[in-house]
Amino acid sequence: SWITLEGGDGSGKTTQANLLADWLTDAGRTVVRTREPGGSEVGQLIRDIVLHHRGDIAPRAEALLYAADRAHHVATVVRPALERGEIVLQDRYLDSSVAYQGAGRVLDGTEIRDLSLWAAEGALPDLTLLLDLDPAAARERLDSADKPFDRLEAEKAEFHGRVRDAYLALADAEPERFLVLDADSSVEDIAAAIRARVEALLS
Ligand code: C5P
Ligand code: MG
Repeated sequence: SWITLEGGDGSGKTTQANLLADWLTDAGRTVVRTREPGGSEVGQLIRDIVLHHRGDIAPRAEALLYAADRAHHVATVVRPALERGEIVLQDRYLDSSVAYQGAGRVLDGTEIRDLSLWAAEGALPDLTLLLDLDPAAARERLDSADKPFDRLEAEKAEFHGRVRDAYLALADAEPERFLVLDADSSVEDIAAAIRARVEALLS
């Protein structure tokens, strides 16, 4: 089974993925913890490019770099693990691209989705956990309290609002694949809701 975690920066994806991985491992399952961008050796190089040159890569070039990371990751990490019968637990997948390269920037979300599906030969997860959080709350979590809220930050807040709306629209369009979680709830409440859904998926 293939489970992806999605949500804005600071929404708690990694925390929940780690808790779920521990729970599944304790239950005797083999779990492959991975992520995009950067879930392979080649992907790590691509991650360095996209994160270190954020803002100065042409939007279409950036979208293609994410797609290249995805193509290589699915072909060399995800598919082989699924064929071995293992559980793939992954931070971010194509929904991140639709939300960030699509809604967040200037590109068309449908084109980004089609590009990702081409890259991954149509592969879609069995379950996508969306940690939904108000961007202002996420910012509070990420920033130190004394950081001034300047114009740049305001633009960022607007960007993150578009990303959040795009995620929620994706979840609406595919309610069977998505489980939307209120990321403002306690870590343990969110983990319990995730475990209930994953238990149903695996049984
Ligand atoms: O989740 P992670 O910390 O690995 O993400 C790294 C950064 O890359 C985040 O700031 C995220 O906003 C960005 N990102 C992106 N487009 C993607 C995936 C991640 O802009 N498709
Ligand atoms: Mg993270």
